[in-house]
Amino acid sequence: MSSAIPIDRSEPDPGPLVLLVEDERSIAEPFASALRRAGFRAELAATGEDAIALTRDRQPDVVLLDLGLPDLDGRVVCRRIRAESEVPIIMLTASGALADRVLGLELGADDYVVKPFAVQEVIARITAVLRRGRLGGDYPRQLVVQDLRIDTGARRAWRGESELDLTRKEFDLLVRLAREAGSVVTRETLMSEVWDENWFGSTKTLDVHIGWLRRKLDDPAEQPVYIRTVRGVGFVLQPQQPGDSGPRQSPAR
Ligand code: CA
Repeated sequence: MSSAIPIDRSEPDPGPLVLLVEDERSIAEPFASALRRAGFRAELAATGEDAIALTRDRQPDVVLLDLGLPDLDGRVVCRRIRAESEVPIIMLTASGALADRVLGLELGADDYVVKPFAVQEVIARITAVLRRGRLGGDYPRQLVVQDLRIDTGARRAWRGESELDLTRKEFDLLVRLAREAGSVVTRETLMSEVWDENWFGSTKTLDVHIGWLRRKLDDPAEQPVYIRTVRGVGFVLQPQQPGDSGPRQSPAR
């Protein structure tokens, strides 16, 4: 037997660390207590600059980010955090306007919640983004479809020699389609796997993101080289260029 006495590690696992960025104490403090009761660790930031610094120093598992902060616009904070971290970001917004939602997602947020929100709803969203973060172990790290190459580990993608500048959701969509290139991936599958497993409702967000992805792939919806729409069903990432039947058949004769 070794003489080294193992350190007692029987303490319960510390829960995931949530950084709550919210300047209104009347919201932030009860919310932080509710998170702690639900088994999370919670830290508070009341300004955008604090949020950026704490994300860097404390490496939270999730950031809950209020849009309306005293120093910086929440969207700026989101972009700055995203520039240096892949941490899931859930936006807290007072406005249900679609523009804010889409912009939030375009900036790299993973989800959003409209105020006033129920704490249980936010906790469900946190659990969902954490679960999504753990998915994806059973697939090859490199995916190649036509001249697209995707490194799922590094979260980078290339078309030919040029690297694609994709948002988080665009990248996730591309990966999901590439994993089953040649098969239709239904709208419902994309919504539930790329957005939320409890997704229920409109798939407008999906069309918006597919549109952005197509633009970055230089892929016209009417004559697609990559992403073909199967109307009313979903989308296919085509394994070959249309008209290219793969290995050339030698002409008869
Ligand atoms: Ca606020």
